[in-house]
Amino acid sequence: MSRHFNYLAIGAGSGGIASANRAAQRGAKAAVIEAKAVGGTCVNVGCVPKKVMWYGAHIAEALKYSPAYGFDVTQNQFDWATLVKNREAYIGRIHGSYQRGFAANGVTLIEGFARFVDANTVEVNGERITADHITIAVGGRPTRPDIPGSEYGIDSDGFFALTEQPKKALVVGAGYIAVEIAGVLHALGTDTHLLVRKDRPLRNFDSDITDMLLERLAQDKLQLHTHTEVSRVEKTTAGSLTVYCSNGTVFSNVDCLIWAIGREPATDAINLAAAGVQTDKQGFIRTDKYQNTNVKGIYAVGDITGEAQLTPVAIKAGRMLAERLFNPALPDAHMDYALIPTVVFSHPPIGTVGLTEAEANAQYGEGNVRVYRSNFAAMYNAITPHRALSCFKLVCAGANEKVVGLHGIGEGMDEVLQGFAVAMKMGATKADFDSTVALHPTSAEEFVTLR
Ligand code: NDP
Repeated sequence: MSRHFNYLAIGAGSGGIASANRAAQRGAKAAVIEAKAVGGTCVNVGCVPKKVMWYGAHIAEALKYSPAYGFDVTQNQFDWATLVKNREAYIGRIHGSYQRGFAANGVTLIEGFARFVDANTVEVNGERITADHITIAVGGRPTRPDIPGSEYGIDSDGFFALTEQPKKALVVGAGYIAVEIAGVLHALGTDTHLLVRKDRPLRNFDSDITDMLLERLAQDKLQLHTHTEVSRVEKTTAGSLTVYCSNGTVFSNVDCLIWAIGREPATDAINLAAAGVQTDKQGFIRTDKYQNTNVKGIYAVGDITGEAQLTPVAIKAGRMLAERLFNPALPDAHMDYALIPTVVFSHPPIGTVGLTEAEANAQYGEGNVRVYRSNFAAMYNAITPHRALSCFKLVCAGANEKVVGLHGIGEGMDEVLQGFAVAMKMGATKADFDSTVALHPTSAEEFVTLR
């Protein structure tokens, strides 16, 4: 048996699904191949379940501070299993909507693991499938450290598989995932320790923002251990873990150790060699701005490219590729990788777009960069004993003070960012921000009233 398609995406994650749907909408006979659940990392073990857990944490925090608003609430228990059950039911409904989308667009979903046979052919479940255009959108998977006992830990996939709340958790890593998982566990009442090997988490973010993150972590009593690298893990006969670090710190009675030290590309098993597709040393498939790999007719989108590993980037890159291939009106369509906004769902959330102050100084020269910053107490906190600060910041460059970086940590920052990203994409200057009437009382108004 064999089938032929105009467009074939390998991997039904954000990039594969978006590109196949768009290709079909533009008249192509399109298919997508997936070995696991549709939706990929984002829907099944990433953004979606993470945001649900973050909302759960948000409710826990609201309950904690509700007495200041006059509420006398007795919380009997928090049931982790209920939250997980409702989260997974929601994800099930998302799977259903993807299936309906495929049906409406006429996209064929092929369930199985694809391996290249040659540059136009893959094999799935013993069937050979050929296509004029093939997009590799297989994403990534969590990295594990190569140390004794690392197998006793879980990763972010394992975190989302937990059916019981951990009592004492160690989260190892310094990126988005470590900060987000540690924040959720801590807010929900787990004795949580975040272990970073350098001086702080999120080292690539603007330092004013991470300074404030450190302040908020300390205020919330999330136990951050800096310069702490795990060297060995042992399991006791009672089943708990003992975690040894190279600085001599030992953590005992740990019931959940979570590795969140980065993600690696998942290309090793799809037989790229048969198609002649090259990867870099880490296994990422690097592409040009049109998502072209080194092989004509084979493309890559999403995390597998190693470029801005974010769901909306994969979706946009996938759709632009489908437009370029199948819409004669858009022969130059491609994803613009400049000024990508991103949010870390920490407590409170961090939002950032454009250059950090350090990056702007390096790019424009210190004398050409002007920074505006406000540290303020959001009204939500101001009447509670939890008088925590937010930090919002603009980085401007050149004589006309073009806004080249916008950063914030504070309540609501996740929802604030999108509109400002539009303004920056349009080339807004500080004067444009200042000429906009403030929305009062909000945190967002800080961005148009900075002095
Ligand atoms: P990241 O690559 O962002 O961060 C991992 C960090 O862990 C490294 O930067 C490093 O920081 C530290 N690290 C690496 N190796 C070790 C080690 N052996 N021991 C201790 N620490 C180590 O990875 P994530 O897995 O957090 O996230 C992957 C990507 O997924 C992100 O970059 C982001 O693009 C995306 N993502 C986006 C989210 C969102 O949009 N909200 C949420 C989650 C993920 P250092 O050098 O400072 O030690």
